[in-house]
Amino acid sequence: MKYQSITETIGNTPVVRINHLAPKGVNLFVKVEAFNPLGSIKDRLALGVIEAAERSGELKPGQTVIEATSGNTGIGLAMVCAAKGYPLVLTMAEPFSVERRKLMRFLGAKVIITPAAERAVGMVNKAAELAKAHGWFMTRQFENEANADIHTRTTAREILDDFSGERLDYWVTGYGTGGTLKGVARVLARERPDTRIVVCEPLDSQLLGSGIEQARHADGTPSGPHPTFKPHPMQGWTPDFIPKLAADAVETKVIHRLLPISGADAIRFSKELATREGIFVGITSGATFAGALQIAAEAEKGANILCMLPDTGERYLSTPLFADVAADMNDEELKISRSTPSGQLNS
Ligand code: PMP
Repeated sequence: MKYQSITETIGNTPVVRINHLAPKGVNLFVKVEAFNPLGSIKDRLALGVIEAAERSGELKPGQTVIEATSGNTGIGLAMVCAAKGYPLVLTMAEPFSVERRKLMRFLGAKVIITPAAERAVGMVNKAAELAKAHGWFMTRQFENEANADIHTRTTAREILDDFSGERLDYWVTGYGTGGTLKGVARVLARERPDTRIVVCEPLDSQLLGSGIEQARHADGTPSGPHPTFKPHPMQGWTPDFIPKLAADAVETKVIHRLLPISGADAIRFSKELATREGIFVGITSGATFAGALQIAAEAEKGANILCMLPDTGERYLSTPLFADVAADMNDEELKISRSTPSGQLNS
């Protein structure tokens, strides 16, 4: 297949059957967003918000683009901006993984680090301030309708095509901006009303589960952190406020069930997907999959379940996901090494 630009390779990600980790009698499938060119579901958003702004005239040729991002959005935007010739500045809070910053800089973006204590709200404020001061185009991933729209046009359509003529009993997702949730759920609610929509969020930080509304400004941005927020290891999920797009999905009553997921389960099931299925994905994927397994355990025989896996595991080498993966040989590996004469280390 020939493409005119790397951006044309975004989307159309595969849906893959789970063969070993699923309980008998139900069909559990995962949509592997790691197949996007820069390895995450946010490549879709990046293309969606840039092309919508090009169409509306809000983004002029050569104008600088700016966004606040915990990583994947920045990496996706860096790819799209490089391919289309826009300079890019990203703001990012201190605790996010170092390889993410390096990736963005490798793709030509400038990365401005904001204090850890100010969390997501701090990096969003900094981006807005810089956009205003310099006349840059801010993509506003948390409020921009083009974020949800690209999922309506691509992710949702792909799911409808992949399950056309078949039942789809459950669709399981998490949320960061809520773009995936809002964009896909409204299509399923309209075209596949039998599909139950399940939303996972961190056990330690159940912003939606709390039922407490987010205080926000007239433009949809949060006016401060949500009182229920606590730090959690699922980078890319649930910032310290409920984004406008996620709140929209709640208001339209398309969500059938909220599932709290522990950080330990997120990491455990990311590893299980790798070692038992050969599917190499990140922490929020493990978390969403943990939720999908809970649904699978309770689902009726013959049910079809689709679970979103937002990104690749390769982005997490310096995070808790790899904390107990050793670089040196363990006893078992040493024993294999010593079982034949050649190639042994002198230790
Ligand atoms: N997982 C990861 C790793 C992400 O980066 C994101 C996006 N922030 C999500 C899940 C959630 O996607 P969305 O923003 O569409 O809600």
